[in-house]
Amino acid sequence: MSDPSRFLLPHISRMKGYVPGEQPKQGEFLKLNTNENPYAPSPLVLERVRQACDERLRRYPDPDASGVKSRLSKLFGLPVESILVGNGSDELLNLAIRCFVGRANRVVIPHPTYPYYEKLVQLQDGLLVRVNFEEDFTLPREFIDASASMTIIANPNSPSGTLVSNEMIEAVATGTEGVVILDEAYVDFSDVGGLQLLERFPNLIVMRTMSKSFSLAAMRIGYCFAQPSVIAGLAKAKEHYNVGLLAQIAAEAALDDLQYMKGNAERVKKVRTDLSSELRRLGFEVWDSAANFVLARIERPKAADIYGELKRRNVLVRYFDDPRLRDCLRISVGTDEEIAVLIEHLDEIIEKR
Ligand SMILES: *Cc1c(COP(=O)(O)O)cnc(C)c1O
Repeated sequence: MSDPSRFLLPHISRMKGYVPGEQPKQGEFLKLNTNENPYAPSPLVLERVRQACDERLRRYPDPDASGVKSRLSKLFGLPVESILVGNGSDELLNLAIRCFVGRANRVVIPHPTYPYYEKLVQLQDGLLVRVNFEEDFTLPREFIDASASMTIIANPNSPSGTLVSNEMIEAVATGTEGVVILDEAYVDFSDVGGLQLLERFPNLIVMRTMSKSFSLAAMRIGYCFAQPSVIAGLAKAKEHYNVGLLAQIAAEAALDDLQYMKGNAERVKKVRTDLSSELRRLGFEVWDSAANFVLARIERPKAADIYGELKRRNVLVRYFDDPRLRDCLRISVGTDEEIAVLIEHLDEIIEKR
């Protein structure tokens, strides 16, 4: 029997496949590798989700996630027609690529950034244009590409945690004929935000998620803001019932308890400051982070060895197989106690050399 995978479309066959951060099924790991929030979701979320586990699950959920949209509309002062809720912001990224990028169309992304963008471009058989960040993680002028169908900026960026200035975002939005995606997955840990740019730049799509700041990665809730005509286009392409009932209920409750999220974001920011200075004391170079993780660089001992040694001690951080990041580790901000444990291990590992 010949291999049926030969029927796969050629551009799918060529794909490498995305490797997400490890999610160990067993063992007591200190997980600082996938930027999950170290704090539990709001008690209001847990209570409402528990209460919703009844006969209602028989029915399909609201295809428009109206309860979530109306809360977002009130919170951000934008019309519901300019909002779309997705099964994580990954789904919204996926939708945007499918709706705006055809075969061989140019998609510009910086490097290094969130690896999922590259996979999406390959899936669409688009033309990926990767532009290297400068050493200090600012964007060079050649990032502005007039003929790109899509330009994507994660702000704050992962894995660097750094910010692109609003000035540069405006220059990109003005300088391209295509759409510009501003992926604000980590925006609640920063003091910035691009929503106010929507009015002046109609080609902008701003995406956010409840996975990081709201501690709801498992529920898969993302949302995006754009011109109503763009939202209407994306909505045509989405699965009808893309956000499950429990996810909608969780999202509504999370927005009804916004102060809880903001309190946790403040705690994360404080631990981030402590973590950064501890890492610097240990000899790491640490970029100023506006997210819930830090990127730290060290030449000796080798970052790959530190990663391996930490893993043997049941501490997971992120190491990237990428020349630009060879000397780097990305470390998610945990609780005070978790970071104290990490620093103890790092003290031992680095002192030993
Ligand atoms: C985590 C992350 C996402 C994905 O968020 P989900 O809502 O969980 O799909 C998108 N973009 C960036 C930059 C992220 O780090």
